[in-house]
Formats: sequence, structure tokens, C-alpha cells
Amino acid sequence: DIPVICIDGPSASGKGTLAARVAERLGFATLDSGALYRIAGWAAQHHGLDISTANATALAQLARTLPVAFVQDRVFYDGEDITLAIRSSEGSRNASLISAIGPVREALLSFQRDSARLPGLVADGRDMGTVVFPQAVLKVFLTASAEKRAERRYKQLISQGLAANITTLREELETRDARDASRSVAPLRPADDALMLDNSDMDIDTATLQVLSWWAQ
Ligand code: C5P
Repeated sequence: DIPVICIDGPSASGKGTLAARVAERLGFATLDSGALYRIAGWAAQHHGLDISTANATALAQLARTLPVAFVQDRVFYDGEDITLAIRSSEGSRNASLISAIGPVREALLSFQRDSARLPGLVADGRDMGTVVFPQAVLKVFLTASAEKRAERRYKQLISQGLAANITTLREELETRDARDASRSVAPLRPADDALMLDNSDMDIDTATLQVLSWWAQ
């Protein structure tokens, strides 16, 4: 069996950064599952498909056949660079909406499972530990206060030269988390065997060391 480390948690809790650090230390691959929902949401909008359950079949068909390419840190859809577009507020909202549609989640399942390869994988998202890799050896549920998460997202956007408003960001995060936690398919929640890590007052090095020490046990 290929070793998998799952890092789940709410929006902007630092999952992606932590997953990248842990993977780098262990020489593992990473899976950013949120990017898949962001790409699917972008594709739906691009093709003029309403993101609603009424379109579930068409949306799932689209998700199953996404013409997407990952080149280093960039994402291309049919040759178009959509790296920034999928990270916008609208991209986050579309991802959250499309991720609540069961057949879309099923369509993205095999891609996620197929990304596991030796020597191992660090997967981040909302349901890595509960649905996609239930047999994973280590499951971490990463949290941080809404205030800290909004602050970090704000700094990230500003450093990319993008405009941002911290109050709006916090509202968007909380709306998205509430939707992710209340949906009927794969709601955001810790797996029964997940280890909880609150990094509100913890730097990335400390969080990385905590996960590596759990991994070594
Ligand atoms: O992690 P990220 O913020 O990029 O994810 C964007 C959205 O995709 C989340 O708000 C959530 O609705 C959805 N998602 C999901 N399951 C995952 C990863 C992301 O439903 N495993």
C-alpha cells in the first residue's frame, strides 16, 4: 500500500503550505484536491453551465473529462492559463458550489486516488481522510481561528499584488466553510481517527515538525 498523509480542514487554515512542507521533507508527492474543484467550477462557468443540481449529469461529465494540464505551479485549461482565475473570490465560490454536487465528487474520485504513488502522497482538502483515502496512515485536521485565516489570506493576496479587504475575506471564508460543513455529500468534518492541529498561534515550521513527529510514531 502506498503511504498517504491526509491534511483536511477549513478554508485558508494553511493546509496547502503544510502539505507542501511535509511532502518536501519526506520526498512525497502532493495532491491539492481543492484545485480540482476550483478547475471544475471554472470550467462550468466557462461553458455557461449553471452550477446547480439540475445540471448534475452535465457537470459530472465535464469534471470527468477536464482538459487540464499542471505545469510546475501553473494550471492550464485547454491551453489557457487559469492559475489566478481559479484563486479569485468568484473561483472560490464556484468551487464550493460545484463541490456540493455528489456526481461531481464521484467524477473526481479516481483522479485523486490515482495521484497516490511511491514513496508516498500528502493530500490536502476537506474529505481526504473521510472519503478519498479512508485507509490513510496519518490524518491531520488543521484548524485556525477565522481571524487568523482571514489575516493570512489577506497577506497572501496582497503579496501577489492583488486587492483585498480583510472583513470581506473573513465573511467569504465563513460562508464557504458553513456551506462545506452543511452539505449532504462529504461534509467538512474531521475523520474519527484524525489528529487535531490548531495552528492559530503556531508558525509553519512548528506545524511541519508536529506532523513529521506524528508520522515517525
Ligand atoms: O482547498 P480550497 O480552498 O482550494 O478548496 C476550494 C473549495 O473546494 C472548498 O471550499 C470546498 O468547497 C471544495 N473542496 C471540497 N473537497 C475537497 C477540497 C475542496 O469540497 N477535498
